[in-house]
Amino acid sequence: MTPYRELNKEQLQVLKAQLEKEFEEVKAKGLNLDMSRGKPSKKQLELAMDMLEELKSTDKLKCEAGIDCRNYGLLEGIPEARRLLGAMTEVTPDKIIIFGNSSLNVMFDTISRSMTHGVCGNTPWCKLDKVKFLCPAPGYDRHFKITEYFGIEMITVPMTPTGPDMDIVEKLVSSDDAIKGIWCVPKYSNPQGITYSEETVKRFARLKPAAPDFRIFWDNAYCIHHLYEEKDFLLEILEECEKAGNPDLAYKFLSTSKVSFPGSGIAAVAASPRNLEDIKKHMSIQTIGHDKINQLRHVRFFKDIEGMHEHMKKHAEILRPKFEAVENTLEKEIGGLGIGEWTNPKGGYFISFESMEGCAKAIVAKAAEAGVKMTDAGATYPYGKDPHDSNIRIAPSFPTLEELQTATEIFVLSVKLVSVEKLLA
Ligand code: PLP
Repeated sequence: MTPYRELNKEQLQVLKAQLEKEFEEVKAKGLNLDMSRGKPSKKQLELAMDMLEELKSTDKLKCEAGIDCRNYGLLEGIPEARRLLGAMTEVTPDKIIIFGNSSLNVMFDTISRSMTHGVCGNTPWCKLDKVKFLCPAPGYDRHFKITEYFGIEMITVPMTPTGPDMDIVEKLVSSDDAIKGIWCVPKYSNPQGITYSEETVKRFARLKPAAPDFRIFWDNAYCIHHLYEEKDFLLEILEECEKAGNPDLAYKFLSTSKVSFPGSGIAAVAASPRNLEDIKKHMSIQTIGHDKINQLRHVRFFKDIEGMHEHMKKHAEILRPKFEAVENTLEKEIGGLGIGEWTNPKGGYFISFESMEGCAKAIVAKAAEAGVKMTDAGATYPYGKDPHDSNIRIAPSFPTLEELQTATEIFVLSVKLVSVEKLLA
C-alpha cells in the first residue's frame, strides 16, 4: 500500500471522493455501536453467576476468623479475602486491606484524606500553596479527573514502551516538594496495554522525592488480566521499595471489577505497615467495616489464586478474538499507509491508537457521525487536552464480535477520510 503522504494532490482528491461515498453508504445504515468504555460484555458477566449461588445456608456464613459475616467486625476484611487479593497483587495478607466495591473510590478517598488530613503526619495538602501530581499520558481519564477535582496541578509525563519517561520523573520528583504523587497503571496500562519494565519499577522504587509525603499511586487494575498464555511480567513494587530503603513510597490499588462484576466486586489497598496504619486511622472513622458477605462470596467462588487464574482464562477466551479482530482490521486496512499506529497488548482492556497529528478529535467526531461511539479524543490526557490531538482509546470488550468488526471498519474509514482531508488542507 502506498503511504498517503506519497500521493499527489489529484490522487488524494480521487481517494477522498471514493472514501466519502463509502462513508455516506455506511452512515445511511443508522448504526449505533459503542467502543468507548472498558466494560466486560454480557457473556463475561455470565462467567461469575455461580458466585450468587454461594452462601445459601447460614452455616456457611462464618469466615476463618470465626466471625459471622452478616454482622459488624473485621475492619481490614476477612482473612481469606486478604489472602486471595494479596495473592492477586503478590503481597502477604498482612500488607493488604479490603475495601468496598471500587478501587477508584479508594483512590479518590486517598487523595481526599491527603488533602484534609495529610499523609502520615505531614501537612494536609489543602494547607499548602501548591500541590502537583505527575500524570503519565496517555493514561486513565478517571485518575486525571480525581486530581483535577481537588485542584491539584497535573504535569504530563510522556509514556515510553517501558513505562513513564523515568528521566523526567526522577528529575521532577527530586527537585520539587510540591509534587506529591504520580498516577501509574503499571501492568497492561490503560490505554496502551504497556507493562512497566523491571528497570522502570526499580527506578520508581529508588526515587528520592523532595516531598516526604510523596506517594506512587500504583493502580494494579489489570494485574491478572492476561489475553495470552505468554504473559507480561511486572516486578512487585512494594518489595522493591523495601529493598531500596523506601518502604512507604507506594500504595497499590486493585479490585475484582473485571474479574467478577464491575461495581459489585471487592477492592483493596496494599502498602507498608506505616501507610496501612495511617489509612486505618481514617478508615475506622469512616466505616465500621465493608461488605464481608461479598468478600466471602468471592473467596468461596474462586477458592484461591489458581481458581482466579483459571477464571481469567475464560475471560481471555472471550476477549482475545475481539482484540485480534480490531488489530487485524487495523493492519489490513491501514497498515503501511502512514496514517496511524496502534498497540497490540497482551492483556488489559484497551488498544491505543495514534493518528496523524491534529486528527484525533475529527476522527472521533467522524465515527460518531456514522453511529460509532469512541472515548472522547483528549480524555487520555490531563485536563482532556492531548497536545498532539492524536491519541484515541479503543475499548473492544463490550460489543459483540460482529458489532466490533463493523465498528472497527467504520473507525478505519473515519481515520482514512480525516487523514486525507488533513493532507489536502
Ligand atoms: N483503574 C483503572 C486503570 C481502570 O481502567 C479502571 C476501570 O476501567 C478502574 C481503575 C476502575 O476500577 P474499580 O471498578 O475498582 O473502581
